[in-house]
Amino acid sequence: MKANLNLGSVSGIKIKVHWTFFFLIAWIVFSELKRGGSTESILFNVALVLAVFACVVLHELGHALTAKRFGIDTKKITLLPIGGVASLERIPESPKQEFLVTLAGPLVNVIIALLLYFIVPVNELTHLNFTETFETLMSFTWQNFLFLLFIVNVGLVIFNFIPAFPMDGGRILRALLAMKMDRAKATQIASNIGQFIAVFFLLIGFLYNPFLIIIALFIFLGAYGENQMVQHLALLKGHNVEEAMMINITTFNPEDPIDLVVNKLISSTENNFIVIENNTIVGVLIHQDIIENSNKNILVKDIMITNFKTVYSNDKLDKIYKLTHSEKHPFFPVLENNKLVGAIDHINLNEYILLQAKLVHSL
Ligand SMILES: [Zn+2]
Repeated sequence: MKANLNLGSVSGIKIKVHWTFFFLIAWIVFSELKRGGSTESILFNVALVLAVFACVVLHELGHALTAKRFGIDTKKITLLPIGGVASLERIPESPKQEFLVTLAGPLVNVIIALLLYFIVPVNELTHLNFTETFETLMSFTWQNFLFLLFIVNVGLVIFNFIPAFPMDGGRILRALLAMKMDRAKATQIASNIGQFIAVFFLLIGFLYNPFLIIIALFIFLGAYGENQMVQHLALLKGHNVEEAMMINITTFNPEDPIDLVVNKLISSTENNFIVIENNTIVGVLIHQDIIENSNKNILVKDIMITNFKTVYSNDKLDKIYKLTHSEKHPFFPVLENNKLVGAIDHINLNEYILLQAKLVHSL
């Protein structure tokens, strides 16, 4: 099942709809039918949701196109029932750039709201008393449609300025803090505030709105994950691969039987291995493949992976950190002057991070 439906692209940025989005539409149709709504009311509400999400796409394009000005590409914009996500290739490290890229999103909704403010007689509608407003909004007219769209955009602006990192407001807060202090510290503060707000959202969500529960979890986990990444990268900054790599590594030949590898796996702490033929690295053996094929009568060459990545001993560790998160098999032979000198994987990189954190805390 394809998870996303393609809607096309703008400036090379693909716009996709996540399949769960259709649950939202189905839910609206269902709740309208349950309420005894007419075809007109169903169409009105579905059209309104689609218009709101068109505004969300424009909001995300605000982020993506501003990022593009700073040389940052966006892989895609995905629409989820809880909102849109622009997958930026990277988050700008310069606080000023992050501030502008983030601000551009809600600014789009400010512009839409202003345009609607001049089209719809907003003042007339907001000056009515509650019953009158309610009665006016019960009819499915263009004016009501645009008025509700105006209200939603104002709501989006307010919601996006709540400083719940990694939501827009939280990113703006992090960027502002990072102008005054170290980025890692700024992220720590923004993420603590974000998680605090997420807990608050969660409580309100349980009482009133299940959507808020999903948003709360998204914020809480998002803040945790991104803060952890920033802290890790800060600890690794300025350090090279040779400081964290394993040096006593076992290598195998392509013609070696798998039993030999299994014995080494049991009798040592190594999990992945490098395969060498005529002094050249020809492949790597990954822990999971070794376990899965351990009872078979096969050779190393039958299960070794040949499209592996190698790194250099003087490569920066923050680069390797990103590599361990993007590669399917985070295990890399380390070269120096084109000779094998060691290996590095996510396990010993994490160990190195723990040691660095200890070092920083004891300072
Ligand atoms: Zn945004």
